[in-house]
Amino acid sequence: MSIKSNLAAVRKQLMNDTILVAVSKTKPVSAILEAYQEGQRIFGENKVQEMVEKYHEMPKDIHWHMIGHLQRNKVKHIASFVTLIHGVDNFKLLKEINKQAEKQHRIINCLFQIKIASEDSKFGMTEQELTTIIQSEEFLSLEHIRIKGLMGMATFTDDDSQIKKEFLELKRLFESLKEVHYPTMNLETLSMGMSGDFKLAIACGSNMVRIGSTIFGTR
Ligand SMILES: *Cc1c(COP(=O)(O)O)cnc(C)c1O
Repeated sequence: MSIKSNLAAVRKQLMNDTILVAVSKTKPVSAILEAYQEGQRIFGENKVQEMVEKYHEMPKDIHWHMIGHLQRNKVKHIASFVTLIHGVDNFKLLKEINKQAEKQHRIINCLFQIKIASEDSKFGMTEQELTTIIQSEEFLSLEHIRIKGLMGMATFTDDDSQIKKEFLELKRLFESLKEVHYPTMNLETLSMGMSGDFKLAIACGSNMVRIGSTIFGTR
């Protein structure tokens, strides 16, 4: 199977309003170009260094999404060009993104990553931690970030009912946050679903899926 046919097969399974992030981490520029030639413009990377290198080598109309765990001291390397940061899971990181975005005279779009999986290894914050952040005075003063929505990763399991429960939990939180109106938040994106579970995620209300191996092959 080629990247072209994989991409076509994935697209067929999305809804009209589902945004596809093609996760190109570990894959060479040649693979990204194949998807680019099929019209794909959004790519997801999880390592800062790798994303910066690819950004310099690739066409400039690509939208780069940082989907991995982001360290504060590395934000400065991507602040000039990153389109969306999916993995914001603490306030210090958000403040650093705001600071670096200000230096670039930009507003950087972010998603709060929420821990929905039962595994210890998955990053993300609790609903309580999120509430504490958005209710603080300081959050309202951040003029160079915009919270566009939420991101979550379900437990790695064969048990669809558990995955569904976790996705619906995130959807519920997303809908309840939409009731809150702050200038720093404009909730429209619910990023959930990967190669193994994106159909279920869409059925549970996702409108952004992050798909790697189904498009580019195993890593
Ligand atoms: C790698 C990765 C993906 C894509 O995973 P696949 O199973 O290859 O589709 C999605 N989201 C995050 C956060 C990732 O790190």
